[in-house]
Amino acid sequence: MIGSLKQKISKTRSAFTERFTELLHSDKNREEILEDLAETLILADVGVTTTEKIIDSIRENSRKTDPFPTIKKHLEEALLALLSQFPSNFRLDSSRAVVMFVGVNGGGKTTSLAKLAHHLKRQGKDVMLVAADTFRAAAQEQLQLWGEKLNMPVIRGQYGADPASVVYDALQSFQSRGFQALLVDTAGRIHTNINLMNELEKIKRVISREIDGAPQEILLVLDSSIGQNALVQANEYLKFSGITGIFLTKLDGTAKGGSVLSIVDELQLPIKFVGVGEGEEDMLRFSSQEFVTALLS
Ligand code: GDP
Repeated sequence: MIGSLKQKISKTRSAFTERFTELLHSDKNREEILEDLAETLILADVGVTTTEKIIDSIRENSRKTDPFPTIKKHLEEALLALLSQFPSNFRLDSSRAVVMFVGVNGGGKTTSLAKLAHHLKRQGKDVMLVAADTFRAAAQEQLQLWGEKLNMPVIRGQYGADPASVVYDALQSFQSRGFQALLVDTAGRIHTNINLMNELEKIKRVISREIDGAPQEILLVLDSSIGQNALVQANEYLKFSGITGIFLTKLDGTAKGGSVLSIVDELQLPIKFVGVGEGEEDMLRFSSQEFVTALLS
């Protein structure tokens, strides 16, 4: 797993390794090294606030005379501490588990939902999908295609139908057919004057009314390739209650993988999964240790 993550984040990684090689062969003092590290972090889209936190923590824990390899160890510890603040565990123990996917259009919501569906099916669960984005015909069709490919039922509503009522219908079918996991795709944008966050709250209320303890997870899907802009988008979604974690997409091929750090630090939410490609297998469980090792080693 580390091997593949390392390969997937190679663009973000190479900026770090190049800088490390330079520093290893230089005679810079701690302050100069920290300046270089701060620049590398910012170029990898870590964000200014989070970068400052990381640099301060290294300064606090190291000595002025420490050589680069020791400082690099402190960097590793600082990144790990930052990423491990929130547990990224994901277990759908319940026999009736519901997972909601929220996020702006184009971020990778439907694809990520399909990846998780595939993963759960491979664990032996009967999975049902519901297209609650009734405002975009293309979104419904896309989910339908995934359902056919992965061989699982997809519940859809009429174009423009109330999303919460489509979810209600799906819940009835889900329970009566005895399925174990229901994954809910939601709209990223609504073309009427209905407030999207209110709409999401309504869907969530319908789910928790029908099934005790559900939705067990609400995943906010964020696109890592837009770096710091993902944070701007995410802030809007923090108005919606109950997000349990982040599904960070498109980590393959981006040089902005440092956004992982500011996302956890600024949103105060764990990253639970990362998307590393367009296929159903291209998903990894997020592990702080693996990420830090892949980034720095
Ligand atoms: P939605 O509008 O949020 O539902 O986004 P989609 O699921 O339609 O994804 C938008 C585009 O991003 C599609 O072309 C997907 O194939 C692509 N995509 C989604 N996740 C990933 C990923 O992890 N890596 C890459 N490279 N592309 C992805």
